[in-house]
Amino acid sequence: MVLAELGGSISRALQQMSNATIIDEKVLAECLNEITRALLQADVQFKLVRDMTNNIKKIVNLDDLAAGHNKRRIIQQAIFNELCKMLDPGKPSFTPKKGKTSVVMFVGLQGSGKTTTCTKYAFYHQKKGWKPALVCADTFRAGAFDQLKQNATKAKIPFYGSYMESDPVKIAVEGVERFKKENCDLIIVDTSGRHKQEAALFEEMRQVSEATKPDLVIFVMDSSIGQAAFDQAQAFKQSVAVGAVIVTKMDGHAKGGGALSAVAATKSPVIFIGTGEHMDEFEVFDVKPFVSRLLG
Ligand code: GDP
Repeated sequence: MVLAELGGSISRALQQMSNATIIDEKVLAECLNEITRALLQADVQFKLVRDMTNNIKKIVNLDDLAAGHNKRRIIQQAIFNELCKMLDPGKPSFTPKKGKTSVVMFVGLQGSGKTTTCTKYAFYHQKKGWKPALVCADTFRAGAFDQLKQNATKAKIPFYGSYMESDPVKIAVEGVERFKKENCDLIIVDTSGRHKQEAALFEEMRQVSEATKPDLVIFVMDSSIGQAAFDQAQAFKQSVAVGAVIVTKMDGHAKGGGALSAVAATKSPVIFIGTGEHMDEFEVFDVKPFVSRLLG
């Protein structure tokens, strides 16, 4: 996983700084350059990296730090805090409550792992005693309903969809209504993904959202999307009220930096990550432990 390499590069930069006898402007600048390089290589958006290093320079004013201050610790803490800030938009996302009906809509490009992630999300909650249900409002991709049906059947999760109906709004509304009547507490609506950010995709998403009034819209993003992540995430956010992000395929060779960009673009937290194709390869995402691991 390239994120591990990112962590390695950052810890090496910190280690090099720790090895220096005196920490002056030059040593700090070298350390920040190394970190900048590592973040850019991991596909974090340039502007985010620049803002981060500027903030660190502002916080760590070496002239103001009297002798005796542990400069290394202050610098390390500032780097830790800035990385956390990049991944934490400052407000938590809406969190569904067990026993109380919530509608959660999933959006993302085709191939991002959206349908797989819907089932993982349902399965995760089912294991904790929830009553989830899946609605397939993807009428665009042939086979989307079959895929959802197969996954749902395997996990014993109720599902709704249609081979005949071509109107995703109608299916979404019918599915949500049915599962509300059946007292499901987590109704998950899978929407169409397209290859690129077509206007029709966004219009359809907007209509499904308007008709089902989701409590939470989750943007699913493939971690290998790289530098394109920021613009993509922003385009989705502009059409529907994205409230949380799930980053998939963190097990692969993805650089993962796109996750940081998606948070910045949507001002929404990453709530889970996908770490494999299987239903249980799904982890809650917590900023601080993640950054601690990253820094080694
Ligand atoms: P959708 O078009 O966005 O609904 O994407 P799918 O759910 O069909 O997933 C596309 C492919 O990505 C499938 O082969 C999935 O098994 C795979 N996939 C989804 N999530 C992950 C993940 O976290 N890790 C890995 N390795 N593969 C994943």
